[in-house]
Parts: sequence; structure tokens; C-alpha cells
Amino acid sequence: MTFYSLTNQENTASFKEAVIAGIAPDKGLYFPESISPLPRSFFDTIEDLSHMEIAFQAIRQFVVDDVPDTVLKDILAKVLDFDFPVVDITPNIGTLELFHGPTMAFKDVGARFMANCLGYFSSNTANEEVTVLVATSGDTGGAVANGFLGVKGVNVVILYPSGKVSTIQEKQLTTLGQNIVALEVEGTFDDCQRMVKTAFLDGDITKVKKLTSANSINIARWLPQLFYFLFAYKQLKSKGRDLVFSVPSGNFGNICAGMVAQKLGMPVKHFIAATNVNDTVPKFMETNRYEPKPSTATISNAMDVGDPSNFIRIRHLYQNNFEELNQHLSSYAFDDETTKEAMKTIYAKTGYVADPHGAVGYLGLEKYLSNHPDVYGVFLETAHPIKFLDVVQDTLNHTPAMPEQIKKVMDGKKEAKRIGTYQELKTYLLSV
Ligand SMILES: *Cc1c(COP(=O)(O)O)cnc(C)c1O
Repeated sequence: MTFYSLTNQENTASFKEAVIAGIAPDKGLYFPESISPLPRSFFDTIEDLSHMEIAFQAIRQFVVDDVPDTVLKDILAKVLDFDFPVVDITPNIGTLELFHGPTMAFKDVGARFMANCLGYFSSNTANEEVTVLVATSGDTGGAVANGFLGVKGVNVVILYPSGKVSTIQEKQLTTLGQNIVALEVEGTFDDCQRMVKTAFLDGDITKVKKLTSANSINIARWLPQLFYFLFAYKQLKSKGRDLVFSVPSGNFGNICAGMVAQKLGMPVKHFIAATNVNDTVPKFMETNRYEPKPSTATISNAMDVGDPSNFIRIRHLYQNNFEELNQHLSSYAFDDETTKEAMKTIYAKTGYVADPHGAVGYLGLEKYLSNHPDVYGVFLETAHPIKFLDVVQDTLNHTPAMPEQIKKVMDGKKEAKRIGTYQELKTYLLSV
């Protein structure tokens, strides 16, 4: 499979090249040159297939030139060793829980898949170490740190804003050691991101170090997210109802992967992109004008994105045809007060404890269902409520039990190097 850049389609790369580079040299996102539907029999018998078999068949066409089938199976076995249940909330609504992985947010699957692909590629290339450089506002860093831990030939450097991630998130970033280094930046997330971007363009560094990113721009982090939607379909097919998905969205990688699953032939009636007040896409879906803006801080902070990087992939999936996109996607924004009210309502009516991101997804679904009462709706629960403990406690007066994964990490000892300027990052990168 060839991938082309969305800036200039003449710039192409193999799967391997695209994974190692992250982004095309012209700064465009990579996109598969074709998406071939899976055979009908795949969907007819999906309830008899294991998660491994589903994932293997779904991703194979994208990676087959660079990852042999036996290696792909090994990678998927490592990536998919936890569950993805759909939990019924009401007769018309279920939640797809994506938080049963090691860091309890949905980014585990993509981060692990990318880590294992990169590890495989670098094991084939003598003396070619790769450095993954990533800025995080919270969840990405933990998932990336965990996914890449112990992967040979890959070093990971994570920048996070001092005092601006939760205690759990900080522990997840700073306690692992081995090939994972955490840099605690005196500044904001935007400062971290600026430093990372500067490093990618700094010839003094790229001359001597192979740098790559690990956010959902990278196809190896983005594409495996399509598994979630297939796993949900497998569980819901027997209901015999039209299916809609509501996805709490920030950079729009997850929902875009769902749309790829639809292109693979999965029956879905509609997608809903639910956002917090960072409403660039909901506004676009009203006006057909894309106007990015600086992000605003909210209680669903993993979605505080003012210029979602993957939305260009969604527009490309629909050939930049606004009418066509409108038939497949609705997008709604909700503020923090409304989100907290939804958390309370869900808890009071059903006993279910939703985190703020899941609650935004629920709100988007509720809005759509009010005009489409016959469909079955699934909202994605992208993080365990324990990861946003302060908000959950304040809003629900309830403390969820501490899961084992989190207990373990809370006992670890924090190790981070403090930096304040880009020059300090550069000196560090050149010294290791
Ligand atoms: C990253 C993240 C999101 C947003 O996902 P995108 O693919 O960037 O749209 C939503 N919820 C949680 C908990 C996240 O960590």
C-alpha cells in the first residue's frame, strides 16, 4: 500500500516510510491511496471472529508490503490483550468502553501498535535508532510511554507542562525509566508543542538523530483505532438496529478511523462528533467555513484542540464534498456546565459513572436521538473516570474504586528532568 501526502499527492511513501517519518516532507498528513472494502462474508460472520482475527483482516491491506503476516499477528496479540465491552445504558444507548488498557485511556491501542511497528522496523535496520519526541497535555504521554517501554531501538522523550497534568497522568509519564525520558517543562502545553515542532525543523538535531512523532498524525497510531468500531459492531449486530456512533473528539483521529471502518464496509447509519467548547468542527458543519482558533481549557482537557489535525483526513474521505459529508456526520459542541449535568443525569438514571469526555459523547448522541428515535446509539467512553477524579468527585460526590493499573503506577518514583527553554531541549537531545 502506498500512502500519499494530503498537501501534494505526488509525495508518496510506503507504510514503513510513513510510520518512520510521521509526517510527509511537505508537512502533509499521509493517507492510504485506496481503501478496499472487506468481503461481505467478513461482516456476515463477524460474531464468530475473535478480536485478533477482526483486527488482522481489517488492517492487513494497509501494512502488508512492510509487515509480514506472522509479524502482524504477533504485534496484534501484544496490542489487543484487553477487552472492549459495549455496556448497555438504556434500551437505545450503549457505551463502548475503551479504557481497559494499561493507561486506561483509548490511546493505548494506537500507541502500542505504533511502538511495535517501529520496533520491528528498527530491528531490521542495524544502528538506526529512532527517537520519538512527543508533547502531551496528559493522556498521550502515558499511552506512548507505556506502549514504547522496552521497545529496542526506540528512545522516547516526552515533554509535559509542569503542574498542568493530573497526579495520575504525571506518574504514568515519569515512573517507567528504561527507554522513556520525561522532560518537565516550565510552561504550558502550547510551549511544549512549540519546542517539539522547533526540534523537528532543527537541522543540527535531524542531521544526527532520526526524530519521529507519536500523535495521531502518524498512520500507525491513527489507523488501528478503526478496530474499536468493528469490535462494537460485532457485539451489536444481533440487535438488528441501525447503528450510530458518537465520538468525543479533539484531534478527530478516532472518529476518522471509524469512518475508515465504514469505508471497509461496516454498516453504520451516522457518525456524531461531539466536542467541548472548542467547536471548530461543529461550526464548520454549520457554515462550511473552517476557522481554527486557539484552544480553550475545559474539564474534558484531552479534547482542548482548536485546530484538529485529522479533520483534513475526514474531508478528504468525502472528496471535500460538504453535502456528502453532512449526510454522514453531525457535530455538536457542549460547555462544561452541560457536561457536568450530563454526568449527573447518567449517574442518577442508570448508576453509570461517565468521565467528562464520555459525557460529551453522550450529549452528542442524545441530541441526535431526539430526532432519530429508532436507531441504536453508542457513545465512546474514552477514559476511565479515575483519570479525571477531581471532576468526577466534585460533580457526582462519588469516588470510583482505584483500578490495579493505576495503583501500581502511583507507587512508582517520579523521575523527570526540568527544562525551561528550547535550547535546553536541544542540548539534551544532542547529548544522548
Ligand atoms: C485523545 C482523547 C480524546 C480525543 O481523541 P481524538 O482522536 O484526538 O479526537 C478523547 N478523549 C480522551 C480521554 C482522549 O485521551
